[in-house]
Amino acid sequence: MFTKAVFLVLITSQCVLSASQLVIGGLFYEDEAEDLAVALELSAELYNFTTSVKQVSRRGQILEISEHVCALAKEEVIGIIDGTGGRASEHVQALCDILELPHIIIEPNDFYSKNWTLLSLFPSPDAFNNALAELIDMKEWNNFTILYVKGHSLKLVENLMQMGNSSERATVSIRELSGDDYRDVLIEAKGQGYYNFVVDCPSKKLEQLLLHAQQVGLMADEHSYIFVSPDLFTLDLSRYRYGGVNMTGFRLVHVEEDPNLWQFTEQFNEKTGKGIEPEQLKTKVILVHDAVKVIYEAVKKVHDIQPKALDCEMYEAWPHGSSLLNFMRTNKVEGVTRTLLFDGQGQRNDVLFDILELTPAGNQTIGVWDGNVLIINRPFVPAPDISEDSIMRNKTFKVLIALTPPYAYIKESSEYLTGNDQYEGFAIDLIDELSKRLGFNYEFEVEPTYGNLDSSGKWTGMVAKIREDKAEFAICDLTITAERQKGMDFSTPFMTLGIGILYKEPSKQPPEMFSFMAVFAKDVWYYMMFVQMGIAVIMIFVGRISYKEWQNPVPCVESPEELSNQFSFANSVWLIIGSVMQQGSEIAPIALAPRMITSVWWFFTMVMVASYVGTLVAFLTVEKNVLPFNTVEELAAQKSIYYGAKSKGSTISFFKESNNEVYKKMYQKMLNNKGWLVDSNDEGVAIAENSTYAFFTESTSIEYYKERHCDLLQIGDLLDSKSYGIGMKTNSSYKKYIDDALLQLKESGEIQRLKDLWWKEKRGGGKCGEQKEEEAKQLGMKNMLGAFVVLGVGCVIGLGISILDMFWGVFKRSVKYKTTFKYELVEELKFALKFSGDVKPVKRPPKTADGSEEALNEEAKDELGSLKSARTIHSGRSTSTKRSSHSHCSRHSPSDLSVAFAKRRQYNSSSSS
Ligand code: GLU
Repeated sequence: MFTKAVFLVLITSQCVLSASQLVIGGLFYEDEAEDLAVALELSAELYNFTTSVKQVSRRGQILEISEHVCALAKEEVIGIIDGTGGRASEHVQALCDILELPHIIIEPNDFYSKNWTLLSLFPSPDAFNNALAELIDMKEWNNFTILYVKGHSLKLVENLMQMGNSSERATVSIRELSGDDYRDVLIEAKGQGYYNFVVDCPSKKLEQLLLHAQQVGLMADEHSYIFVSPDLFTLDLSRYRYGGVNMTGFRLVHVEEDPNLWQFTEQFNEKTGKGIEPEQLKTKVILVHDAVKVIYEAVKKVHDIQPKALDCEMYEAWPHGSSLLNFMRTNKVEGVTRTLLFDGQGQRNDVLFDILELTPAGNQTIGVWDGNVLIINRPFVPAPDISEDSIMRNKTFKVLIALTPPYAYIKESSEYLTGNDQYEGFAIDLIDELSKRLGFNYEFEVEPTYGNLDSSGKWTGMVAKIREDKAEFAICDLTITAERQKGMDFSTPFMTLGIGILYKEPSKQPPEMFSFMAVFAKDVWYYMMFVQMGIAVIMIFVGRISYKEWQNPVPCVESPEELSNQFSFANSVWLIIGSVMQQGSEIAPIALAPRMITSVWWFFTMVMVASYVGTLVAFLTVEKNVLPFNTVEELAAQKSIYYGAKSKGSTISFFKESNNEVYKKMYQKMLNNKGWLVDSNDEGVAIAENSTYAFFTESTSIEYYKERHCDLLQIGDLLDSKSYGIGMKTNSSYKKYIDDALLQLKESGEIQRLKDLWWKEKRGGGKCGEQKEEEAKQLGMKNMLGAFVVLGVGCVIGLGISILDMFWGVFKRSVKYKTTFKYELVEELKFALKFSGDVKPVKRPPKTADGSEEALNEEAKDELGSLKSARTIHSGRSTSTKRSSHSHCSRHSPSDLSVAFAKRRQYNSSSSS
């Protein structure tokens, strides 16, 4: 048992080892060779083979094919995978028979011979004929038309043709499609009232056939198609989804379940640089993979396989060829196209394939053909989101577009694109969205001129074509203008805009001489000055009514005649300015209220100064763009910059029609100077970027170009406000539907999404990002308001305290001097509000009848006592310029005080009178 196992392992490893040396030949047409060669190479790598590929030109005939087959035979290939088909394959087959080389074909064929070295990976004609007949029965077609492309074998639909022979089954007609334009034949079929079609055409012709059928109106509700080619559902059929047409076809692969297919697609995309999904892989590409797998499984079974260089001229045959082919035909291999089983003639009869249908929800698998029976298992398809009453449904419209970015571009593709596929852009996506909602089909036509009334009174461009029924809709950056509205209707607007000026960003300039003043906005400076004045007044007032601010000017005199107050106008202003300048001053408040107000003022100045200093650097260093003009009027007034707009468009019409004198003059200048008007936005932008040229264009275009040309900017405000709409015939019955659908798209944010996509993301969008405004930010009142509020609140509180203080002093005096409170208050306020005189006589009661000095001295002591205590609170700093001038000390006799008293009475009476 053990020895048997070792033997088996040895055999297998030998086989695998030898397989690594084996070469598989590939013979493909040049125009398909790239994809098929990649598929062959990938599959060969996977199963340890090497490859040799020969390319055949379509025109290349027997001689060229013979040369290639013989060359492959010389290279010791163990089999040829042939992608040519038809007559070419027949010839390859003849040679392979002589050389006894396995010939694996991946195209439909109708060779039947037991002895031939043929293996056909493509399902046999029998399989197709049976499946098609079942489908037609299922659909209960009583009549149908077979459409086939000239030169294409009809083997796959042979049985269907015979269905017409037994009269009770069906009426069958056949139409041949030849040349490049199938429309004539299709129109004829339509004219004869055919609705059901079986289409047998090669994969590469499918797209064109579908397009032509749509163009002639053969893709509507009443039309039904069965396609023989299993490549139908590898195409993008989205444009036919809503037309109501019924399309049925086959698919060989089981996309959902096969991990090999996903892996193979990934590798295929990597090698080819394509980005296709597994279901988009063409049948031939997949069959190349399966062919290699079939060879691999057979090679494992042939003992000691030896490749051999064969010479065609010598009619040599490969001794291992027939046994390899036998194993290929008898093995049961699981490929990507499911189980590969062959009959004695190398044909795949027993094939399983999916039946697919195109529905408004996309491609749907509706059943399977399991080799014998058709099993239909149609899934629930949700109703399409189309308004049933849309009269646009199933119709095909000609839509005019202009290749103006980002509304429409020619698609960048390595493949040759035709029809609608050539275009992409905002307008293309918008029409597509509308078609999905309203269920119509469309065909684009490029018309570069938007249209106006020309000097001879004739309509031009898109407007003319719409009026002449040459097209149904026009969509681009088509501005709704009064003039155009006379010639056609517009849909509800889908975008709003205005004319702006696009100009190249000028070089930066150093800051101006007095830029330090720009740190605060003008109003902040004004308020600061006002506040300084206000605080000075408040300080004087508060100082005057605060009892403790009245100080003995001559400290050596114990009982001074007069008291002085430091809050003169000059001192108050000096205190305020000193703190603004962060220098302080010699003035130091003594009483609570002035101290409080001073503290709040210091806080205010701290905030203001810190804000100023913090922002100042930016103002002194940031270099600014100094624009050569800021408005259209300034642009019109200068001579060094020229300007212009698109020569045929609503922008130049705006200047032409304007009543504004400036605009009129500008229009004349643009008209009279050669080179000022341009043919397209792109041209205008290029000139603006490279010279001193201001380009008038619409804000939507400005936004678009600013995203891609970082040195361009918009100067000034928009000159007007208008919108874009979809153009259509006057009183068009489709307007209501288009309007409704556009509103829905707007409300759902779809239009904005498309705008962001085409402005900011696709085709170079987002290059410049958010332009950072480097400009230093000026501090305005809204930045500094908090500091002003704190100051205001502090002042109010300080004032309140000082008023209470004054009341208390007034009360005490009224009690002491036995006067009324009111009298003392009026006296005090009169004195305080005079705002003049910073000297105040010491108030004493009138002399008693006995005039005793004793009593007087007692009074004076009392008053001075409080002054002394106040003086001790007083700081060592001199508080008054006046006081410092009295810094020398002199003694006063008690008689001096009585003089002072007399003065005070006099003072009081004079001030009260
Ligand atoms: N949107 C303009 C028009 O409808 C074309 C661009 C322009 O004139 O700036 O004519």
